[in-house]
Amino acid sequence: MKQDNCIFCKIISGEIPSFTIFEDEQFKVILDVAPAAKGHALIIPRRHYANLYELPEDMAADAMRLARRMMTTMTQKLGCDGFNIVQNNGEVAGQTVFHFHMHLIPRYHNDGEILKYIAGEPDREELEQIRRIIAE
Ligand code: 5GP
Ligand code: ZN
Repeated sequence: MKQDNCIFCKIISGEIPSFTIFEDEQFKVILDVAPAAKGHALIIPRRHYANLYELPEDMAADAMRLARRMMTTMTQKLGCDGFNIVQNNGEVAGQTVFHFHMHLIPRYHNDGEILKYIAGEPDREELEQIRRIIAE
């Protein structure tokens, strides 16, 4: 399940060193080398899946369970004031490493606008049209 030239597969195998804060049979949780905030970490499955589309559903559930556990522990230990869980799929969505991972980003008062998007202003007709496309 290891993919050649995948930086996260190399981190999992130990070929590339990392600062590991938790590991079990399925996942490794490491500090991000270019953190958005103090304590920014990544949940990485040991097996290579490119993204959430490819990740088996039971592993997705396990990853979210682990995210919740890590978030709770990290909040206690770092004393952060909030938390973002971020997960990018595809280049257009900001994914740069194509081995599934979840970002654990501790948030602190006055840490700036780390994650920001411009809110749209759709009318009701537009929202209904989109609802129909997705739900019907
Ligand atoms: P993405 O943009 O794919 O959602 O996130 C990839 C993340 O991996 C980025 O936040 C980036 O800083 C981090 N990253 C890239 N290379 C390495 C590395 O070699 N070690 C660690 N610890 N993090 C990395
Ligand atoms: Zn990989």
